[in-house]
Parts: sequence; C-alpha cells; structure tokens
Amino acid sequence: MKTCIKDPVPAVFAARDNLAAAVDAHLAGDPDKARRRFRAADTLAVFFWLNPCWYDVEKNVVDAAPAGDSCVVPKEQRDRDRGIAAAVRTEVLARDGYRCRYCGLPVIDATIRKIAHALYPDAVPWDSRDLRRQHAGFAALWLQYDHVVPHSHGGRSNAENVVIACGLCNFGKHGYTLRQLGLSDPRLRLPEPTEWDGLQRLRHGFSKQSREAARRNREAPG
Ligand SMILES: [Zn+2]
Repeated sequence: MKTCIKDPVPAVFAARDNLAAAVDAHLAGDPDKARRRFRAADTLAVFFWLNPCWYDVEKNVVDAAPAGDSCVVPKEQRDRDRGIAAAVRTEVLARDGYRCRYCGLPVIDATIRKIAHALYPDAVPWDSRDLRRQHAGFAALWLQYDHVVPHSHGGRSNAENVVIACGLCNFGKHGYTLRQLGLSDPRLRLPEPTEWDGLQRLRHGFSKQSREAARRNREAPG
C-alpha cells in the first residue's frame, strides 16, 4: 500500500521554496526578485511530475475492481451536497493544516494564487482551460478538499470523510477508491503539524498599495 499516487520529487520542493521566497520578496518591496522567484517555481520538471497523473487519471488505477470494494451508488443515495460547506472546510483546515494528508506536500489555497496572478500576471500565468498555461508550482501545491471515499461511492461531505490534499493527490484520485488506487487510508495516520502557513502572509500583505501595484503591472508592457 502506498500513501500517495506519486512521491513528490525535489523540483516540487524547490518550487515551494521559490514561491515562499517570491512572497517574501514581494512583501519586502522587491517586485523584480518576486517576479524572478515566481518564474523559477514554474518549471517543466514540476509540470511533468504532475502530468500525466493529473489529466490521464486512469493510469493511476492499479486494480480496477478489487474484491469487496465500495460501489458507485445511485444519485439519490449520495450526499445531496457534493460541495463542502464553509464550516466543514474550516474544521478540516484547522485539523490538517496546509499539508496534504496523502503525500505530505505543503499546499497553498487558490486565493493566494489569484493574488499572485493579479500582482504578477506575466510570472504567474493561469488559464483554467489549459493546463500548459497554468503555473506549475501553484498547480502542484494547490490546496484541495478531498473526499476520501468518493462522493459517487456515497462518501459524505463532512469532516470525517474530507481531508486536505494537494493538486496531484486530489485530481489524480478522481472518482476512484483508495483500493483501486492501491492507497492506504490517510485518516488512519494522524495529521502532522506543519509550520507552513500556505503563504497566507501574502493575503495579509495584499493591501490597497499592492492592488495599485497589480493594476500597474497589468498595464505594463510584456
Ligand atoms: Zn498530495
């Protein structure tokens, strides 16, 4: 049994370090350094670590029909709300911290990526329709709320069944069960405390002044 679909590689940790350095440079008033470090976190090595696990999810399956596994349940028996309520998200994040419960990667929520994109659109590209035009570092470390037992298999949208996951672990799981993927249940391991703040300091530093800088950056050529 594995704990995750694919072990993180050094390039992903390098992306984490570059993203943290970019945020710190921005908060220290050094936009040129921030832009360089954001760019350094967007590498082909990270892109090819994520893919094809991310877009070709069938390749992640190790046993399509394990004996005694859970089954897809009729729609009327599923949790009516596949979305995860804000109160559940708050509870899950407080329990797990900014750390994937499968592979242990530090994670960053989409709000931080959106702020970084608004501030440095050239260095933090994001096109939701095209994986190749998404910043690889932010994609890899994208905070997700994952249904451990898939919603389609009757998994509930509550804190008992939802854990923090990274982009690869969540999208790579898709609608498959842990047993189909050959994964152990992350809920059987205690969440590990982490010092990583999910780069939330950028949110706190995204002042009116920063928004003004973002507007100027957007208007600047190339
Ligand atoms: Zn993960």
